[in-house]
Amino acid sequence: MDELKEKIYAGKRINAQEALALFSWDILDLGMAADFRTRLLVPDGKVGFIIDRIVNFTNVCEAECNFCAFHARAGQIEPYELTLGEILQKVEELVKSGGTQVMLQGGLHPRHSLETYAGMTRAVKERFPEVTLHSFSPAELAHAARRSGVSVDQAVATLKDAGLDSVPGASDILVERVRRLVSPRKIGVSGWVDVMESLHRHKMKSSATMTYGMGETLPERVEHLGVIRDLQDRTGMIRAFIPWSFSPANTRMEDVVPATGMDYLRIVAIARIFLDNVRHIQAGWLTEGMKLAQIALTMGASDMGGVLTEEVVVGATGVKTRTSVDEMIDVIRDAGRIPFQRDSDYQPIRLFA
Ligand code: SF4
Repeated sequence: MDELKEKIYAGKRINAQEALALFSWDILDLGMAADFRTRLLVPDGKVGFIIDRIVNFTNVCEAECNFCAFHARAGQIEPYELTLGEILQKVEELVKSGGTQVMLQGGLHPRHSLETYAGMTRAVKERFPEVTLHSFSPAELAHAARRSGVSVDQAVATLKDAGLDSVPGASDILVERVRRLVSPRKIGVSGWVDVMESLHRHKMKSSATMTYGMGETLPERVEHLGVIRDLQDRTGMIRAFIPWSFSPANTRMEDVVPATGMDYLRIVAIARIFLDNVRHIQAGWLTEGMKLAQIALTMGASDMGGVLTEEVVVGATGVKTRTSVDEMIDVIRDAGRIPFQRDSDYQPIRLFA
């Protein structure tokens, strides 16, 4: 442990075996080591948040992932599709409340072609050019390309031309064994990497996430982090890493025992140390609650993500966390950090010193 500790405090890259060893470290030692690494990457102690809105334009999805409570067949939400008018109204509400980022996201609707996605993008961008469209997901882009019989590169080029700014890198779990069990009809690891590399070729930024607690082993959690670090070494396109614990309620995997708060803090801290090429680890208040997210700010996290004036996907699992700008500011300050409202590129809009 001492040798590994020295390596971490020297700011050196650790390997997969060493990342695995960190799972057995004392949580306080681990948290302090992660906080040290945070301060190397974000020395000013500032923690950002963004005012955004997720617009889930449909829950009809042909992938029907076992871990998802959102898609129509999960039985919790009736099938729906928002009209363009409804989408634009939601964006207008965001803009009026001072928001800057829209995340258009939906299920893999069997009738949605690339033109559906491009049409939505164009409509929002033409009416609200000031809004950043950080939208869709690698699975949706691959779906749009397949539905329209074009390459992923062509789909990305079309959407960029329509006004898409960046794409959340929704990664679920980047381990083929687990994906075959939990989301066999969704793109696999290589498909996810292909879309991300295509985004990079088109000079578009992204993020990476991890939904853990779906039956993966600890080495598989490190494997997931390894896929992201390797991609980031090649591209530098990932602005933040966001771990989420799997919420089993209302899914086909309801018998899975949810991960604990300690699991969450370990993932945050280990990700911070291992992903030395990703600037921000985001605290997942939406799934973990504001109190645990606040603690994460002292153990590796350096961003609070979005205020999310609307969110449906996690809400479908029964997790009903909500926040506000005022709460964000208080929580960040109370953690000893300096809050600021940021844009989608993690640049400051307004500092709350
Ligand atoms: S996780 Fe996404 S792709 Fe999978 S069923 Fe839910 S909406 Fe569809």
